[in-house]
Amino acid sequence: MTSTNDIRRSFLDYFEGQGHARVPSAPLVPHNDPTLMFVNAGMVPFKNVFTGLESRPYSTATSSQKCVRAGGKHNDLDNVGYTARHHTFFEMLGNFSFGDYFKEQAITHAWTLLTKVWGIPANKLTATVYHTDDQAFELWKKIAGLPEERIIRIPTKDNFWAMGSDGPCGPCSEIFYDHGDHIWGGPPGSPEEDGDRFVEIWNLVFMQFLQENDEIIGDLPRPSIDTGMGLERVAAVLQGVHDNYDTDTFKALIAESGALTGASTTGENQASHRVIADHLRSAGFLIADGVLPAAEGRGYVLRRIMRRAMRHAHLLGAKDPLMHRMVPSLVAEMGAAFPELVRAQPLIEATLLQEETRFRRTLANGLRLLDEATGGIGEGGTLPGETAFKLYDTFGFPYDLTEDALRGQGMTVDRAGFDEAMKRQKDAARAAWKGSGEKASEELWYDLADELGGTEFTGYAGTQGEGQVL
Ligand code: ATP
Ligand code: MG
Ligand code: MG
Ligand code: MG
Repeated sequence: MTSTNDIRRSFLDYFEGQGHARVPSAPLVPHNDPTLMFVNAGMVPFKNVFTGLESRPYSTATSSQKCVRAGGKHNDLDNVGYTARHHTFFEMLGNFSFGDYFKEQAITHAWTLLTKVWGIPANKLTATVYHTDDQAFELWKKIAGLPEERIIRIPTKDNFWAMGSDGPCGPCSEIFYDHGDHIWGGPPGSPEEDGDRFVEIWNLVFMQFLQENDEIIGDLPRPSIDTGMGLERVAAVLQGVHDNYDTDTFKALIAESGALTGASTTGENQASHRVIADHLRSAGFLIADGVLPAAEGRGYVLRRIMRRAMRHAHLLGAKDPLMHRMVPSLVAEMGAAFPELVRAQPLIEATLLQEETRFRRTLANGLRLLDEATGGIGEGGTLPGETAFKLYDTFGFPYDLTEDALRGQGMTVDRAGFDEAMKRQKDAARAAWKGSGEKASEELWYDLADELGGTEFTGYAGTQGEGQVL
């Protein structure tokens, strides 16, 4: 079996062999984009190279970029445990051309790597193009010999990429793998319930236009290429499994959570083990890149991820903090490719242990309250926002944790009621400050927070810049 580590290496070797500079992954905290919470695509570290603000000593590059999609425009947090193809942390393999080669060569490279180097049968692959992109359509016919019915014209934004409202943009072409009869079933209520036969593995972006205020104003003088392929998804294909969580890396992590908790890894426990494995990776890599749990900002996203995993550890019957004990297996799987993980191992373990020790003090009581509250509600019902707020305020339950806990029982949370309760508390705090005659900075802070909508529980929806992603 080809290991995930081998597949990453093979991808980078291929493009290096084709003259691309091999660029190490940038840290998860973007240094060139204050509007973006975490790097969520391979092109993010190259943004300024694409716009021409920055130049590099190479015109083509390849990387395996660490990505986190757990907030903002691209938030896959709620998919984890419920789909076979989404993670909060994943690696995006990419090849980039900064005004060097364009469509024809990008498609040739993708097709050669997938079918010649890796030997994926051509009849398992399907391509989509933007509906007006006749050029790409013809190239897929010519280069790959794909029959016309397997080149699908898509009219939606899914196949048109833009770097925000101003800047480079262009059509995309996505490559899908046909998993055949192997339906990726998910738990009831999950988006995968009906199965997901065709899985997107690689997205090729053809940057060829320039736009201003969301309108194309002309052609880019030097068209560019940005591609992104999920390492875990292509690993599933190359390892002959139909689920990212059945690849070597995830199997090892899940075996470890099974061994440490003594809980079977199949049946109703499956989602919990998956969440733990996934969140261990995102928490570990975020901490290694300098993010620490906090009440707001990036640190709160990390805290949400960690606490969610911790609830699942509790569900599996873990009597003591679990997550920190999983770190050695994470380092064993990924430390060779990411030395920062090895360097940060003691910090990752200490941070997880401290957070889990603190959270466990309130977790059981919070879950008891939740059980009582849901007892009278029943499937299809809604938890009052007031209760969700109490869980947040008194027991440290991030909003999405409560939502996740209820989802399995087919219940939802009254979000508006939660927001209302949160606002009431803020108003009360503000009034108290006013009463004490202390106006200045705290009040300013609340005004500012109101204006920016930047309260810690909202998941930062809308605060990320548009279009950083393929
Ligand atoms: P999907 O439609 O499946 O959610 P996407 O269109 O959002 O994927 P892109 O933004 O095009 O994904 O990212 C490029 C590639 O990165 C995808 O083709 C996929 O292989 C991979 N990828 C995207 N999101 C995830 C994720 N949450 N976990 C694992 N791999 C991912
Ligand atoms: Mg997506
Ligand atoms: Mg997609
Ligand atoms: Mg895509």
